[in-house]
Amino acid sequence: MNIIIVLFITGASYYHVPLEGFKDRIIYFLHLCALQATVAGFLYVLSLFKWPFRIIFPILFLAYSGFSFWAYSQDISITPSLIQGVLETKPDIAIDLITVPYFVFYVMAVAALIFILKWHSNLDRQRGLKIMIVPALALMVMFYLMERRQYGIFKFRLPYNVAVAVEEYFEKPNLELNMNPKGIVSSSDSIKAVFVLGETLRADHLHLNGYFRNTTPFLSKRDDVISYPDLFTSKTITATSVPQMLTDQNLEDTIRPFTSLYTVANIGGFKTTWIGNQTMETSYLPIAETNDDLILVDKYRSVFSFDKELDGVMLKPMDSLLKLSNKQLITLHMIGSHWWYENRYEDKHRFFKPVIDSKYIPSLSEEQIINSYDNTIVYLDEFLHNIITRLESESVPSFMIYASDHGELLGEGGKWLHAQEDDALKNPGYILWFSESFRINYPQKVRALEVLHDQPISMDLLYPTMLDLLDIEVNTPQ
Ligand SMILES: [Zn+2]
Repeated sequence: MNIIIVLFITGASYYHVPLEGFKDRIIYFLHLCALQATVAGFLYVLSLFKWPFRIIFPILFLAYSGFSFWAYSQDISITPSLIQGVLETKPDIAIDLITVPYFVFYVMAVAALIFILKWHSNLDRQRGLKIMIVPALALMVMFYLMERRQYGIFKFRLPYNVAVAVEEYFEKPNLELNMNPKGIVSSSDSIKAVFVLGETLRADHLHLNGYFRNTTPFLSKRDDVISYPDLFTSKTITATSVPQMLTDQNLEDTIRPFTSLYTVANIGGFKTTWIGNQTMETSYLPIAETNDDLILVDKYRSVFSFDKELDGVMLKPMDSLLKLSNKQLITLHMIGSHWWYENRYEDKHRFFKPVIDSKYIPSLSEEQIINSYDNTIVYLDEFLHNIITRLESESVPSFMIYASDHGELLGEGGKWLHAQEDDALKNPGYILWFSESFRINYPQKVRALEVLHDQPISMDLLYPTMLDLLDIEVNTPQ
């Protein structure tokens, strides 16, 4: 029964993980065994009850086989967006998804299910209760103990990730927003703004900021880009950083309700659109929803997928939108430099080698990890260059703000990635660009920001800077 469950369900979470060498494969095989052992604990206890097992198990098994087929074939991630897709999709669209391989996979799953049910009806459950109940309960407890030790060790894989995604889908966001701010005065009738919400970019790995490697070949050639090497944020994960960046919430201040940047921009007459290449988190979804429009590209693949689209796919919808209105704020939410770095750029951006070839960090060298990370910045450089080139063709004043949500640990104190506490995470990249006509129309605004470029500044500055550049004033009553 465990082998069947691995083949039809749990194995799908491991199928696309990039691994190199015998040791990495053994480690991930042991991980799969540990995860399957916890599943076996739950299933064993369920199997001791005749009718609950006969009713609950087939439903779960067939539903999970449906998810795992897409995880095997398309490397989709089980996220709240996917649950929404399943629960809210019309039947005719669902029928379109049923292909021959899907049908074959499902027939095999049904055959396996019949085999399990037959085998179950022959079991001596009384005897089972006596001999195996203690180890089974221990395995169930192991699941909770392991999760307490390392959050997400099992939870983000099949079958547990379905429960996590369903829970998140129904979760009510704990965010109070002021939807009716007063005193907003918008003076301009034509500004096109692109706000690039970056991911996991350290300021000190930008050649623009003096990094020894040329990670920014396009932007370094320009003399109209302003980069800030010394921006501070105290928020080191996306879930806390993004809401702070997009609202008037200060870094240390939590007085509610907050006002979304987009609510103010909308009242000021801007058309606002959010284009995202990241699955939405509950912490900032309500803020993103204050945009007039919300477009998610590649929405069924999260950071847990290895086939995720590159950020460049957001340029096409941006391009069409820019033609629509002269007064616009477009946000591009990148997957950026998020681990696993090799999925974040094209071959032509592989400037630095050797790169990472396995997802198992202990088997990688520091050099490999930093090379791959730096290559993601070479991709970002071209991405931002493409946005600037597009905005340069606009006759109305335009600007681009790039701000990353936090940095990344690259071996500091022997640690990697983010979501930890370290100064390396608190200095994200921040880059501005203004068109010629913007500089002519608003010389003082540009000058004030140029003066700050080598000063220590805080992420608190982003919100007022954005409103100032959109030429919006908020007059709070005294
Ligand atoms: Zn992030």
